[in-house]
Formats: sequence, structure tokens, C-alpha cells
Amino acid sequence: MSDIRVRFAPSPTGYLHIGSARTALFNWLYARSQGGKFILRIEDTDLERSDSKYLDEILVSLKWLGMDWDEDIYYQSKRFDLYRKKAEELIKEEKAYYEETEKGKAVRLKVPKEEVITFYDIVRDKIDVNADTLDDLVIMKSDSSPTYNFACVVDDIDMKISHIIRGDDHIANTPKQLLVYEALGIKPPKFAHIPLILGEDKSRMSKRHGATSIAEYKDKGYFPEALVNFLALMGWSPKDDREKLSVDQIIKLFSLKSINKTAAMFNIKKLDWLNGEYIRDIELDKLTDFVAEHLIKRKIVEKDYDRQWLTDVIKSYKTRFINIDDFIEKTSFLFNEEIELEQEAAKEHLNSESTIENLKKLKEKLERLSDFSPKSIEEAVRSLSDELNVKAAEIIHPARVALTGKSSAAGIFEVISLIGKERTIKRLGDVSLAH
Ligand code: GLU
Repeated sequence: MSDIRVRFAPSPTGYLHIGSARTALFNWLYARSQGGKFILRIEDTDLERSDSKYLDEILVSLKWLGMDWDEDIYYQSKRFDLYRKKAEELIKEEKAYYEETEKGKAVRLKVPKEEVITFYDIVRDKIDVNADTLDDLVIMKSDSSPTYNFACVVDDIDMKISHIIRGDDHIANTPKQLLVYEALGIKPPKFAHIPLILGEDKSRMSKRHGATSIAEYKDKGYFPEALVNFLALMGWSPKDDREKLSVDQIIKLFSLKSINKTAAMFNIKKLDWLNGEYIRDIELDKLTDFVAEHLIKRKIVEKDYDRQWLTDVIKSYKTRFINIDDFIEKTSFLFNEEIELEQEAAKEHLNSESTIENLKKLKEKLERLSDFSPKSIEEAVRSLSDELNVKAAEIIHPARVALTGKSSAAGIFEVISLIGKERTIKRLGDVSLAH
């Protein structure tokens, strides 16, 4: 049995952010790679800002990403007695004292005057923090709730946490927490502060750089496996050029020593690429389930959608979309009666009387088909091109624009078959010269 115990300690004051999810993941990967325990602790001491809607969302997102936790969830709001007891012990030992404030009695920890506090960090090695301005530390507030630095240490001790893996925005808290360990007479755990995630402009990742909450990625139609893969690569790498890795492969290779010292870059193109790879690899039937679920949720198809038809659509588009938003964009002409004509494409391909004439002839040919399969549509188009003595491409490009509104789509014969005879005839009948 490994005595490695790590924790993820979110405050339910906002949605699960990309950066926090990455912190959770590194903790979880470490626990799973070492046969240790992954503890979930909800830091909800700020009763005013904590909200159960955020808590629910954090739990849903963690589960969706596949991060299972060990033991029951700990809630700091239910542990106030413990913090009070520990504070009273420190007062009795004269390591802390009450301070009268306007709102009531607070408790402060006496802090030795030191110039620098040095600690060792697994990722960053030696860290020196300037401590000469540290005041005696408030550990209990006047409303008798504990401060973050105090509750965190009391809990990390009580939960026998062996490694604290968290964002390096907490480095400034670590010296304060070390003083609490010292006062409580407990040897501190090991620390691993992981570098921040930066946007491509090198400023801290924020809404300006893209969606920040995990729930948004879920809704946009990314696979949890792709997101986990992507999160793992922000600040860690397998030390070779592999990028697509399953979670089991990552667990095998993961170590705290292999976390990068430098900031991680948020690169949405990499996530899109990874998600596209997962889409290519997944079985068609499962991919159809995945897409259908999103389309139903967005009210694009009904619950009793045409399974065979949707499977065929996905088969044609499997290598062409990177998430559900993208799928919906690229296949909009299949799910809507009216098409949106890309003006540039129309100007380029629907610009001569003879082209429009040819499309009317195509309409007549397709009207006569009883079998509206890609194969028989292809035969009809080829024979029309022979009859008119024009290249097939001269029919296909304008037909694509007239039928899909777009300059690019999946294979045109499949696409026409998917649009179906009735809508194809209607769209070809409506076509007019673009100006
Ligand atoms: N509740 C803190 C946060 O969300 C936890 C920090 C820590 O891991 O110690 O940032």
C-alpha cells in the first residue's frame, strides 16, 4: 500500500476552470500512477460566495473527465469545530493570541521575524520567498471562520496529505502555511507547484483566449478523452514527440519530476486537432450516439431522429469536423430547409446563364431517379456531363454551392443523397444567378 495521498481542493465560487481542471488532473494522475489516494476537499468556508450550483458543476465536470476520487468528499464548512479546536490549542501553547476587532475576536498566529523562507519544491527546486513583511497571521476571522491558509493546513495534516500539487499562484501562500505546520509541530508534506497556463499572447489564460470552463468544452462537443489528453500536455510531456496519448498511457508515464518548469501555453488548435483524432478513431456507432446526444440537446433533431440517415451523415463527415459546433456549421444545409448561401462561393460558381441552365438540366435528370443513392446520382451527373459535353466539375462545383450554400463539403454524390430527392429538386429549382 502506497501512503501517497494527494488532494484537489476547489472553492465552489465559480465553475471548474481549465487551470483548476489541470491541477485536479495532475493530482489524480499522480495518485493513480503511484497507487495512492486522490482526495476531494471542497473549500467552502466562504459561505457567502460558495454556491451549490458551482459545486454541482465542479463534480459533474470532474466525473465527465473521468477523475474519480477516493473516500467521501470533505467539506470544510462541516469542519469548523476542528479548526476552532486547533486554534485554541495554539492559544493555550501561547503560539497564537486573540485579537479584538470591531466585529469580534479574531485569532492570530505569532510569526517569527525571518527575512526569507526557503522551501524545496519538486517542480521548481529551491524557492525563496521574501518574508520580512509577514505580519502575525490571522488564522481565525472575527466571524469565527478559519482563514484559507489555516484550514488548508489543518486539513492537509488531518487528511494525511503527502504531496501538495497546485498552481504556482499559491507559492506566496506556502511560507505562511509552513509557519502553521511549524506551530502545529508537524513536518510539512512535499510541494509541487505547477506553472500557470498562459494564453497565446503570454498573459494569464482568461476568457479572452477562449472558453475557460470545462462545461463549455463539454457543450461544444469535445470528447473528455481529448480534453484530458490536452490538459495533460499543458505542463507535462512524455519526453518524446507523441501527442495523442490515452489516459492509461499518461498514467504510466506521469511523474512529478517530469512536470515542466516553464509556463504552459493554451493552444486551442492542439485541442481541435486532438479531438479530430478522437473523432476519427471512435467507432461510427458510438460517434453517432455522441453527435445525436448533442443535436437533441440543441433541438436540431428530435428524439426519434432517423438513425440510419444520421449515421450516413456522420460517416461522410467523420474526417471533416473537430467538434460539435464545427459539425453543425459544416452540415447546416442538411438540418435546415433553407440554406445560407456563401456569397463568395455563389459569385464564383453561380455566375453564368449556362451554369444555371446546366443545373436545371441536372434537376430534370435527378427528378427521374427512383434510386437516390450516391452511386446512381453519380451516374446521372456523369451522363449529363457527357450529354452537355462539359467537364463533370463544371456541374459539380455549381451544384455544391446551389445545394449546400458552401464552397466545400463532403463528397458531392453522398451529400446530394443525404439532402434527399425532394430538397435537392427544390434547391435546384430555386437556383438563380449570383451578382
Ligand atoms: N481552494 C484553493 C483554490 O481553489 C486550494 C488551494 C490549494 O490547493 O491549496 O485555489
